[in-house]
Amino acid sequence: MTAGYEAVIGLEVHAQLLTRSKLFCGCSTAFGAPANENVCPVCLGMPGVLPVLNRRAVELAVRVGLAAHCEIAQHSIFARKSYFYPDLPKGYQISQYELPVCRGGFIDLPADGGEAPQRVRLVRIHLEEDAGKNIHGAEASLVDFNRSGVPLLEIVSEPDIRSAPAAVSYLQELRALLLYLDASDVRMEEGSFRCDVNVSVRRAGSETLGVKAEIKNLNSFRFVEKAIGYEIARQIGELEAGRRVSQETMLFDPEREVTRPMRSKELAHDYRYFPEPDLPPLEIPGPLLEEIRVAMPELPAERRARYVTEGLSGYEAAVLTRDRGLADYYEATASGLRNRKSAANWVMTEVLRVVNETGRSLAKAVPSPAETGRLLAMVEGGTVSLNGAKNAFQAMCRTQQGAEATVAELGLTQVSDDAKIAEACDRVLAAEAQRVAEYRGGRDKLFGFFVGQVMKAMGGRANPRLVNEVLKRKLGEGA
Ligand code: ADP
Ligand code: MG
Ligand code: ZN
Repeated sequence: MTAGYEAVIGLEVHAQLLTRSKLFCGCSTAFGAPANENVCPVCLGMPGVLPVLNRRAVELAVRVGLAAHCEIAQHSIFARKSYFYPDLPKGYQISQYELPVCRGGFIDLPADGGEAPQRVRLVRIHLEEDAGKNIHGAEASLVDFNRSGVPLLEIVSEPDIRSAPAAVSYLQELRALLLYLDASDVRMEEGSFRCDVNVSVRRAGSETLGVKAEIKNLNSFRFVEKAIGYEIARQIGELEAGRRVSQETMLFDPEREVTRPMRSKELAHDYRYFPEPDLPPLEIPGPLLEEIRVAMPELPAERRARYVTEGLSGYEAAVLTRDRGLADYYEATASGLRNRKSAANWVMTEVLRVVNETGRSLAKAVPSPAETGRLLAMVEGGTVSLNGAKNAFQAMCRTQQGAEATVAELGLTQVSDDAKIAEACDRVLAAEAQRVAEYRGGRDKLFGFFVGQVMKAMGGRANPRLVNEVLKRKLGEGA
């Protein structure tokens, strides 16, 4: 960033809650159904019908609120947010305004880049229903109401974020949290995790906030990072040119990687919020709150801390816990091993490489953690070298065969038999009497030569650590 400026960023995230039915009716929330299949008079906004609140959605909202250290309002209310758009059949969206279900709270970002851990405070988390979807064709525009009434959680951060990478880190942490809580499936490409980004810049050292632009249409973490970077540069450019930044809503153009104004003067938007008369206030009884609190699973931050006490670095802990499935995989792999760090390393390099290369899910891309654990146990026991194990792992991913069978079949079994190694050493040293004498006379460099000869004599399959040990001993003996 241009020296002398500071970026200020606040995020508004919409996460679809993982319920089977919609927020105020019994229609299915399943993604990908034929258009207008999952609809009823309630979510189509017919007159004369009444909404009934989905209990599961409330429980999930509370779970997320507790995980984000929010104050849970035992009494909150729904509000009507009025605007006109074809995808909003009632002419208003049921949301929460003055009394949201969760207030305050914070998300701590892991300190994986070597920088200090950072806390991003939250303004609020509230429940609301999604709108339908407009589909614009050449002949006409159509509306699909399948998404109308689907439960969303809106999570609003304070403007505490200072860089594009920190914004991505916040989103990753939020994503992990929602996944750990089974609160959302967080599929950006399916729209179950969407993000509006508010960006402003100000002179370094200034305490007042600059005028912000809001960027919509960000459906990947990469675009979030690009859009913020572009927007920061654009705003600094405006200020440097002596102009002002105007408060605008921008769209990100992923093709050209730029932001463009969408509609200005939206400031004047008046949603005419008022309490929803068709729903009673939302009361969360103490015992229910307690029930949800005791059922909370281990969260990413707790898991990270535990991994660090178990000997992993902060970086390793952060990468592994970002995805609950990956963390579970690591733990199951490491459970029978002496060295957890080598298991962590393996998961972060070998396992993630295969997942990334194949684009398949963890369960489909790699062997079971039990099988991977067996392979690493063979490394620990000296039956296979680390490199041999890497080759075996590649094969196991393709064939689904077990670790032992694969190592044997590929001829990767490493000889760790002391007697056999000693015998090979003796043979080599006897044949190289001249060099042995030189070595003992002080040519230390010859040690590597002897190791090489022994490895060669054993077809490259001797355990190098043992070869080193035995050779040291034997060369020391006659000195
Ligand atoms: P609006 O009324 O325009 O929606 P809010 O005050 O509700 O604005 O804030 C929406 C989001 O914008 C929040 O995440 C908040 O942290 C962020 N935000 C507010 N002011 C600024 C600013 N000056 N720069 C960057 N982000 C901001
Ligand atoms: Mg707002
Ligand atoms: Zn419905």
